Amino acid sequence: ITSVALTQHYLDRIEKYDGDLNAYITVTPELAIEMAKKADEMLDKGEGSLLTGIPVAHKDIFCIDGVKTSCGSKMLHNFVAPYDATVVEKLKAVGMPILGKTNMDEFAMGSSSESSYYGPTKNPWRLNAVPGGSSGGSAAVIAAGLAPLATGTDTGGSIRQPASFCGITGIKPTYGAVSRYGMIAYASSFDQGGPMSRSAEDAAWLLDAMSGFDAKDSTSLEQEKPDYTTRLAESLKGLRVGVPKEYFGEGLDASVSDVTKAAIEVLRQQGADIVEVSLPNKDLAVPAYYVLAPAEASSNLSRFDGVRYGHRCENPKDLSDLYMRSRSEGFGAEVKRRIMVGAYALSEGYYDAYYLKAQKLRRMVRDDFIKAFEQCDVIVGPVAPTPAFNIGEKSDDPISMYLADLYTIPVNLAGLPAMSIPAGFSEGLPVGLHLIGTYHSEGKLLNVAHQFQ
Ligand code: GLN
Repeated sequence: ITSVALTQHYLDRIEKYDGDLNAYITVTPELAIEMAKKADEMLDKGEGSLLTGIPVAHKDIFCIDGVKTSCGSKMLHNFVAPYDATVVEKLKAVGMPILGKTNMDEFAMGSSSESSYYGPTKNPWRLNAVPGGSSGGSAAVIAAGLAPLATGTDTGGSIRQPASFCGITGIKPTYGAVSRYGMIAYASSFDQGGPMSRSAEDAAWLLDAMSGFDAKDSTSLEQEKPDYTTRLAESLKGLRVGVPKEYFGEGLDASVSDVTKAAIEVLRQQGADIVEVSLPNKDLAVPAYYVLAPAEASSNLSRFDGVRYGHRCENPKDLSDLYMRSRSEGFGAEVKRRIMVGAYALSEGYYDAYYLKAQKLRRMVRDDFIKAFEQCDVIVGPVAPTPAFNIGEKSDDPISMYLADLYTIPVNLAGLPAMSIPAGFSEGLPVGLHLIGTYHSEGKLLNVAHQFQ
């Protein structure tokens, strides 16, 4: 099969099914076919890699030269990026045709993809359920076969939770492994791009192509690239699998608990040693994150002022009217809430009480993991406390939406790598298994994930 034929296959499916799912914000058929032709030429000459000619969808948070990049916001509804994000540049270089840009929560703030200016994405498994978020569009396009591979970003769970809700594979790499250059910033000390795919093997190849040191990102890791793709088949015999005793407490849906325990049993049967570990400060992670992430967001989003690019109000009276009306018209409710919380936490007189205290909690959560990894090689548990919830169910209740991030957020506070892999079902909806590793252990996580497939 040629890349042109493969790409056309996905474009046809998008045309047929995306009307129901709303998983793409922008589809780029001409760009896709043009890139597919080039990929076919590369393949004819025997050039390229395993991924050459395989189409990809990018979360609409990644800048693509000449393509609308909205970040799910009215603020950027008219923004056509003038350059490529490093991730995009790298995947272009291996010859992966771009199918389009996927739907997401506005500025990646959310867990359901409902806060998008472009309307909610539907979960392909049940159309009245959310696909998770913020990378809900990317998860939905993989699950529905509207792209074989996609990129996502994970600041507090946005790759893993939608992967879990849509029954696909997603990996949030170690902080710094994937360049943030050209990825619209939400909370820079947490934001991390990563692959979303059907299988662990696909994720390994995509991560291999996306990652690597980038001088354009000041927090990019200057490390030799870990071996993502060659360890997939290793035996799990003797692997120490940590199960945090705090993970199975109140609030965890019984069906999710059952799926998780069954998956742990599979690991045991494969020769892994299951050990109990403790993450005593896990409940501090959500409150710490929802101070720190909005604080960083309030600073990052100050660049959207209606002056240089993005939404601008009509007939501003003066400069402050321009700022005020452009921002109040351009941002949605959840983004405004985060900006206000963040600016408050950073303001004089409150900084010590909120921001500084949250930074201390962040360290405690990280230290818990370091200690747990003295006893085990990987930690397993649930990704989210429930399967996908219904559209509208939590959209008026931000606190309950935030609390549902309790398993994913601690990983981002610590900067660790983690995955969600398909593990089972609850009443027809997929349930993922969470694999958490120590720094730079993506190869090991992918190895464990591969044993489930
Ligand atoms: N749900 C979290 C939030 O709203 C995480 C989102 C993300 O990882 N981008 O901030």
